[in-house]
Amino acid sequence: MKNSIKQFVVIGLGNFGHYLASSLYGKGNEVLAIDVDPDKVQAVKDQVSQAVIADATQGKILQSLGVSKVDAAVVSIGSMMEASALACMNLKDLGVEHIIAKANSEIHSRLLYKVGASQVIFPEKDQALALAERLHNPNILEYMRFVDGYSIVEFAPAQNFMGKRLKDLDLINRYGIQVIAIKGAVGEQLSMIPTGDFIIQPSDILILLGPNAALDKLERLKE
Ligand code: ADP
Repeated sequence: MKNSIKQFVVIGLGNFGHYLASSLYGKGNEVLAIDVDPDKVQAVKDQVSQAVIADATQGKILQSLGVSKVDAAVVSIGSMMEASALACMNLKDLGVEHIIAKANSEIHSRLLYKVGASQVIFPEKDQALALAERLHNPNILEYMRFVDGYSIVEFAPAQNFMGKRLKDLDLINRYGIQVIAIKGAVGEQLSMIPTGDFIIQPSDILILLGPNAALDKLERLKE
């Protein structure tokens, strides 16, 4: 699938804003990067479509930069609650529909939603929770924070799974666990969404999606 070029504005070019803006631009999008600090603007100017020294708390300035037409605006002024809230409010007033704002605390997050952010991210917290989950359970491939209590894990089947068909194991009805893919021997392709007739071989690793409690239970059955 070919993605069409999108237009983004990134406001606040600290670490997060800088890497976000340059990465979006690197993927072929149009990116306007804004910061009040000339050094921050200078540092990113060759890695975005346009980099401008401007104060995002001034609605008129944002308007003159044409930000109302962007597909999404990202406000990455984590450490300055007031400035980030004013920037969000201005974007909302200008009719920007998709406003993603970075918060540094819970109270900051609540404020950003109140002034018009459509999505608030809290990268330090999200990263910490995901890292804790991965350290706690190294089999976890992806920590799905949007669906509380569910995970996708790699599962090396127990001896008694070998030679069985997936429909005989019936993990979906017995545990509420879905086999979403099977990793075969090295060099073999990943079998996505295998059917019930798939027969498990000794080298297979199952990729499972399910409730954490059920996944834990299945893992313990091997012991
Ligand atoms: P990070 O945590 O991602 O490094 P910071 O919160 O430290 O982000 O960085 C915020 C950035 O936002 C700084 O570069 C700062 O100059 C910029 N900034 C602060 N106030 C404004 C404003 N009113 N308009 C535009 N940029 C701003």
